[in-house]
Amino acid sequence: MPCAKRRVDESGSPFFAYFLWRSKESRSPAGARPGTPPRLGITKKAMNHSLFANDALLPTGWAQNVLLQWNAEGQLTQVQANAQAPQGVAQAKGPVLPGTPNLHSHAFQRAFGGLTEYRGEAQDSFWSWRTLMYRFAQRITPAQLEAIATWLYVEMLEAGYTAVCEFHYVHHDQDGTPYADDATLAQCLLRAAQKTGMGLTLLPVLYQTSGFGATPPNDGQRRFIRSTDNMLRLLERLKPLCDAQGARLGLAPHSLRAVPPDGLRDALQGLDAIDPRAPVHIHIAEQTAEVDACVAWSGQRPVEWLLDHAPVNARWCLVHATHMDEAEYRRAAASGAVAGICPSTEANLGDGIFDMPRWLSHGGAWGVGSDSHATVNAAEELLLLEYGQRLQLRQRNVLASSTEPQVATAMTLQALQGGAQAAGRAIAGLAVGQQADFVALDAQHLALAGLPAPEMLSSHVFASHRTSALEGVWIAGRHQVQAGRHALHDEAARAFVAARQAIISGN
Ligand SMILES: [Zn+2]
Repeated sequence: MPCAKRRVDESGSPFFAYFLWRSKESRSPAGARPGTPPRLGITKKAMNHSLFANDALLPTGWAQNVLLQWNAEGQLTQVQANAQAPQGVAQAKGPVLPGTPNLHSHAFQRAFGGLTEYRGEAQDSFWSWRTLMYRFAQRITPAQLEAIATWLYVEMLEAGYTAVCEFHYVHHDQDGTPYADDATLAQCLLRAAQKTGMGLTLLPVLYQTSGFGATPPNDGQRRFIRSTDNMLRLLERLKPLCDAQGARLGLAPHSLRAVPPDGLRDALQGLDAIDPRAPVHIHIAEQTAEVDACVAWSGQRPVEWLLDHAPVNARWCLVHATHMDEAEYRRAAASGAVAGICPSTEANLGDGIFDMPRWLSHGGAWGVGSDSHATVNAAEELLLLEYGQRLQLRQRNVLASSTEPQVATAMTLQALQGGAQAAGRAIAGLAVGQQADFVALDAQHLALAGLPAPEMLSSHVFASHRTSALEGVWIAGRHQVQAGRHALHDEAARAFVAARQAIISGN
């Protein structure tokens, strides 16, 4: 039983109940038997593959005195609560949490941040933003994309994301001609992930039309366009490259407006021949104008159409899915697909607010993405998601659950499960068999010092003091961020600034 539940049960006041519980159980994990913690034998070789944490967030909730061990492949082989620290094993400097998978990213857009925050039309919208974004996308070179993605992944790792799903749609050279090596830009993303240690799900995007009813693509989309056969050849080319570095390959039909029904059907069949369990991500129902256009084209709303015409299941991630009616919420949740929610981008673009209570009432899975990277911070995405619901419903702690009243804890675990599912990788938290991807908070940070572990996470999400409280980040057991900084931080930042300057100035 998670400790926070017990806190509420023992008195009407969670705050005071906590200290009652704390003194009674003397820091033993909730539900653990009293007595001396087991001593664990550990070889010298295994010490490099181990970490001890006073507090850790396991899939079942908070536990104490947790020993984590992993093998040479970076897979967790032991997660032992109520253990005693073996001599020589490194100790985390604060509570250990699973890293958050970032389930939706367009890496190049990180360099576009801040360039559209002015009014260009009487009523600016997603669509006027998109016109400016296309202009930016037309200028990027392979070297610039790699520099932007490398810095972005450094930032993500330092901000608590331990995996990313890259929705990759700029494929060709600036005039729309394919590169001599058709996988040139995809390989920039693979190299950025490899250099930084970021876990990657690469989702090449199928983009064929500019609107419903097979409207031809416009000139601003010339770098995105591929035939279905051409896309399948790209996937075949990328599969061994992804396998070689532990990345997962999937497919992203961009949206129903960008992929006609026959293209969608043929691409999914071709993907199944390559990997029948590969992830499938799609933008859907982000804008009300898109919903209206879909109804005009087909007589159905986008999610309704998709559920009726595609084999949507747990392999799928429905990115945004902001505008659904009751039947769509119910059917989409029942399909097992993950809702890919991107709160900072959806706020930045004026998309609307996803109805979380309704989605959760149907048992829907969800995760978060930073999408256009208006914000690159896992905790901030959770904050914005919860705050959007609070503002809409005039309630507090909306995303707490019946089993986990601590809202930051509940959101962290739910976003982890949905994000891991969307990524199609074994990154579902601190459990044997999962990859050793986790982060450690800094218990000495001003925002956290002296608080119990669940409140440290709450403070990290809801009450930061302007500087990050993340101390360390491990990917596949490798300590990629130490003392809050990635080893490539300075070098990658310089290259990013130079790339952005060159794109803006047209060099
Ligand atoms: Zn997107």
